[in-house]
Amino acid sequence: MLKLMTPGPTRVRENVRMARSLETTNPDLDLEFYDYYKETCELISELLNTKNPAYILSGEGILGLEAACASLTESGDRVLVIDNGVFGRGFADFVRIYGGEPVLYTTDYREAVDPAALKEFLEQDHGFKYATIVHCDTPSGRLNPIQEICPLLKSYGILTVVDAVASMFGDPVCVDDWQLDIVCGGSQKALSAPVGLTFLTVSPAAMRAMEARKTPIASFYANLTLFKNYYEDKWFPYTMPISDIYGLRQALENVKADSECFQRHKAVADYVRNRLQKAGYSIYGNSGFANTITALEVPEGRTAKEIIEGVAKEAGIMLAGSFDVFEGKLIRIGHMGENASMEDAKLTIEAVLKVLSK
Ligand SMILES: *Cc1c(COP(=O)(O)O)cnc(C)c1O
Repeated sequence: MLKLMTPGPTRVRENVRMARSLETTNPDLDLEFYDYYKETCELISELLNTKNPAYILSGEGILGLEAACASLTESGDRVLVIDNGVFGRGFADFVRIYGGEPVLYTTDYREAVDPAALKEFLEQDHGFKYATIVHCDTPSGRLNPIQEICPLLKSYGILTVVDAVASMFGDPVCVDDWQLDIVCGGSQKALSAPVGLTFLTVSPAAMRAMEARKTPIASFYANLTLFKNYYEDKWFPYTMPISDIYGLRQALENVKADSECFQRHKAVADYVRNRLQKAGYSIYGNSGFANTITALEVPEGRTAKEIIEGVAKEAGIMLAGSFDVFEGKLIRIGHMGENASMEDAKLTIEAVLKVLSK
């Protein structure tokens, strides 16, 4: 099997795989499981620096994004979709599906969103129920300053939905200090659990907005209000995937025990970018570089496919291309979670440089 250096799914540590094979109970009926689920959610909140409750949903990261939009959006709601990447723009689809009116604020995909420019825009127009923003837009490796953007939006009374799927646990996310209302995460990125779970933290203001709707939420599976009293009522909207949650819990414990987590991600990211740039290659973008992923521009005369295949053959390492507007233009190195090791970063860069020099 190739060694994963992809920006999710990432490598899974053995103790996470073992946790998924633990003996299972009936998660609907075993009251101890409600405590286990709650403690796991509390660990998520703790690691994201928030008092807001977290909820784990059975579904991949996309379900989290959809659940946030489904639960908040009512017909005719204006929603500010901050678009400086593929996932950023993608939120417009969820808003539209649930009857909202997405208003795109599109910026140069090479730059992180500039809070000062956004402020100018908001001075003219701020009639939005909520705004969506991606922390790390993975197809291009952009990292947005949500610590400035979200308080700014809040100052206009705009709730925020933050896709931090590809940043959290690799770059810091401080939900309370940064005033983030709904934050979406996924199991398969820097957390390094297998794909299959999403989780969200939900602020009291966001929960109030969902409960104050005039019309019902147009989904069952993506209805976040159904989770609100699961613990008191000892009732989940659907049967929880217990083995996935056992694995997630171990992965969260791994992150908690890793006191060097952010420094390691930063050191590996700096190393990867410096080596590639010193060798004369370009990293996509001018500002806002995530510590979880590096997007290398495919040099003139080469193809993404040939480089990815070359690295697989040369070093047994799997890299990713990109997609949508970046299809064929970028090679992505995912140095997040278990992938964020200096040793593997060195092997990866050696292989990339060797393949590129041929
Ligand atoms: C991975 C990811 C998701 C989840 O979607 P996938 O189906 O795994 O691609 C959502 N948002 C971002 C920014 C991601 O990187």
